[in-house]
Amino acid sequence: MSFSPWIEIDASALAHNLGVVRSHAPGARVMAVIKANAYGHGVQLAAAALADADSFAVARVEEGLELRRAGVDKPLLVLAGAHDAQELEAAAAAGLELVLHHSFQLALLRETPLPAPVGVWLKVDTGMNRLGIAPGEVTAMLQALRPLASLRGCLTHLANADDLGDDFSRVQVQRFHEAVSHTGLPLSIANSAGILGWPESHADWVRPGIMLYGASPFAAPVGDLQPAMTFASRLISVKKVRAGQSVGYGGVWQAPRDSLIGVVAAGYADGYPRETPGGTPVLVNGRSVPLVGRVSMDTLMVDLSTQPDARPGDEAVLWGRGLPAETIAGAVQTIPYTLFCGIGGRVRRKVRS
Ligand SMILES: *Cc1c(COP(=O)(O)O)cnc(C)c1O
Repeated sequence: MSFSPWIEIDASALAHNLGVVRSHAPGARVMAVIKANAYGHGVQLAAAALADADSFAVARVEEGLELRRAGVDKPLLVLAGAHDAQELEAAAAAGLELVLHHSFQLALLRETPLPAPVGVWLKVDTGMNRLGIAPGEVTAMLQALRPLASLRGCLTHLANADDLGDDFSRVQVQRFHEAVSHTGLPLSIANSAGILGWPESHADWVRPGIMLYGASPFAAPVGDLQPAMTFASRLISVKKVRAGQSVGYGGVWQAPRDSLIGVVAAGYADGYPRETPGGTPVLVNGRSVPLVGRVSMDTLMVDLSTQPDARPGDEAVLWGRGLPAETIAGAVQTIPYTLFCGIGGRVRRKVRS
């Protein structure tokens, strides 16, 4: 038995969540976003579990090349596109598709001879003010691109789609249609929040990320999604402390009564946030107990007073099955994305199929 933390990835949950995407956007094709090592889940196993997606997307050329080296031959879009001739040549040779979001990338295409035109999606900035060309530049840009690339579509990205009370998503959808509907190209707008919350954003292709991993883009969990990642470890110590004694760094928690304290082998070096407040639930042997004291690098502590039979070696789930990542994210005022991406390098990955 190992006393180190692990993540267990449920491949069938990934496939199930892809089905949830399709049920929400039945008319759209699905570009599964597996950037950043599939949000920490492991990109190769995510690509295999999501084999029914119509295509994949990653953020950077290097991520796309890695997937090609691993034998993934599906259409694969690089969301930031290429930044220099070397990236462009490597991407084209590997059959990656590239986003073009800036005029410097047009200049790059002009200056870099390629054996065959590379597939390009034109990105339009409809108000996020991050990546994309201005709506008014679309016509001229497409004209310039036609002889240089194989045009695959136009996309934009929603800035506030996770806020269902904010009408800005509708403004962006409308700006996008005004800028690109005359092009006749396939269109893509929606991330997970668009898929779940803004049907008018579904268009031809949807680009789900977080919902594939079973977490909600909103503050509250979404009913039919299944968590794909369970982050767990084991108790490595169980001991009594007397009323009034403090636990952990800074003595921020004092036992209000004689208590049983469990030490779990997982800390901020493994990706459990140091900022997590006392009282946040941990599942020991499937039952909820509160975090106490400060999270340290390799360990965290829980109050086991309701579980007098707990002993070293017992399992502790930090988030995942039975304990939504949204709960921990809410307690730390972050989002499940950062929890998943923050899993530490020394945490082992197991696959459950
Ligand atoms: C990361 C990303 C997505 C996926 O977003 P989620 O909120 O995880 O669904 C979609 N489109 C673009 C351009 C992205 O960068």
